[in-house]
Formats: sequence, C-alpha cells, structure tokens
Amino acid sequence: MYISDLEAKNLICKIGLKMWEKQMVAANDGNISLRTGENSVILTPTGVSKGDLIPDMLIKVDMAGNIMEGTLRPSSELQMHLNIYRNNPEIVSTCHAHCMFLSIFACAGIELDMATSPEPILISGKIPVVPYECPGTLELAKSIIPYVNDYSVVLLSNHGPISWGKTPLAAWHTLESAEAYAKSCMIIKNFFSDYRALSSKQIEKLEDRFHPIKEKNRVYCTEKETNRDPGRSYSDFNTIVCNLSEESLEKLANLVAKKLKGK
Ligand SMILES: [Zn+2]
Repeated sequence: MYISDLEAKNLICKIGLKMWEKQMVAANDGNISLRTGENSVILTPTGVSKGDLIPDMLIKVDMAGNIMEGTLRPSSELQMHLNIYRNNPEIVSTCHAHCMFLSIFACAGIELDMATSPEPILISGKIPVVPYECPGTLELAKSIIPYVNDYSVVLLSNHGPISWGKTPLAAWHTLESAEAYAKSCMIIKNFFSDYRALSSKQIEKLEDRFHPIKEKNRVYCTEKETNRDPGRSYSDFNTIVCNLSEESLEKLANLVAKKLKGK
C-alpha cells in the first residue's frame, strides 16, 4: 500500500531529522527513499544534511531513475535504492546511514549474529556483510541484489548499513534497531565475553509467538540454556581478563606460552 507523494516527503524529512539528531549521519551522509507508486519513488537529494531537509528539496523519480519532479540532484545512491525496489516489489522504504556502531562492524567485515535479546533477533536477525564496492557506483547498486529478498538490513563493507522494509516506517525502524543491536553486541562481547545467549529452543518459542525467522536470518545460538540461572554478582567481574570465557582464556594462555617460548 503506497502513501501519497506529499506524505512521503513529510515522512522523509522527519526520518532525516531523527537520523541527524541521533548522530547516525555526519555532514551530508545518508539517503532515504519511499516508493509512492508502481513507477514512482521519492528520495533525498545529494549534498544536503539529513537534518536540514524540507519537502521541496526532495526528488521524484520513476523506476528507471528519470527525474519527474525536483530541482536538486538526486542522491548518488539512487540506483542502489531502485535496485532494492526492482528486486523485491514488497519493499516500500529504504534508509542508508553511516551510524557509528554498524559502520565499525562494516569496516571490520564482521556480520552481526549474536542471540542477545528478542527484538533484534526478530527485527533484523543476522546482519550480513556485502563485499566492498565504491560508493555511488552501479557496482555497489548491483552488489546488494542477492540480499534484498532474505534480509532487511545489510552492512556495506567499509561504508555503512542500508535497510529496507514493507511499510513506510519499517526501513527506519530496522536501521534504528540494528544500530542499537550493534552497540550492545560490541559492549557485551568486549566486557562480558561469556554472555548468556538465547538458546535455539527459546528462539523457536519467539517464532511461535511472533513470526517465523528465515533460515539466512538466523543468529548464532547454543543448545545450552544458562539465562534462567540466578544472576551473577557484578562485583566478581574484577577485570576484563578475569571475565574471559574458557575458550578465550585458553587462547590467551597459548599466546603467553608462545611468547615465553620465544624468549
Ligand atoms: Zn554512504
């Protein structure tokens, strides 16, 4: 179900401002688009801060990328947005930003797949890494095609995330949720490496209660269920080293042994 061009323009300005206020974009970074018909898409212009958008700045294009309305130049990632709509007709919204935590994972080439809490498991699920292509090119626009039917957000290598969704607000909410997920994954992994993941059984129950999760979207989880044990004392976590998992401790011990052997 499409919304009107005017509604789409107002919504894009609102999302842009939120994006900028949440520091998910710097300078003129990021781009947002909404599909408003079988052959029409409204999107942000190039060279404008997402915090300064007004409806008159937005551009209307057809599905071939021809400008139908607007005086400014469309975002250089226009073809990437169009490829999402062309390859999954159910999608009506797309958001791209350079938010800090997701962009760090994109630079490290690390996909997000921790079973931390129900919301990210259900909203984005596993977030994969798309091989690097130069921003603003047709190669980048093509690189995401294999992902548009299996995921709702991906990490463009050494660049940042792009999300999409089946409602006008879905892409934005997915991006916002994914950034919070990336932030918590990084903090948990670095400070509490033996975190208590949701088990496969607990994820099955989430699927029964909410919606099924596609195979490719599944996060990593273990059979072991420790999150119903009593809470542990934070006072016992004296240092990061003391809090290493058995596996990490073993790795550290091997590294130390290797170092000592070399002397
Ligand atoms: Zn970008």
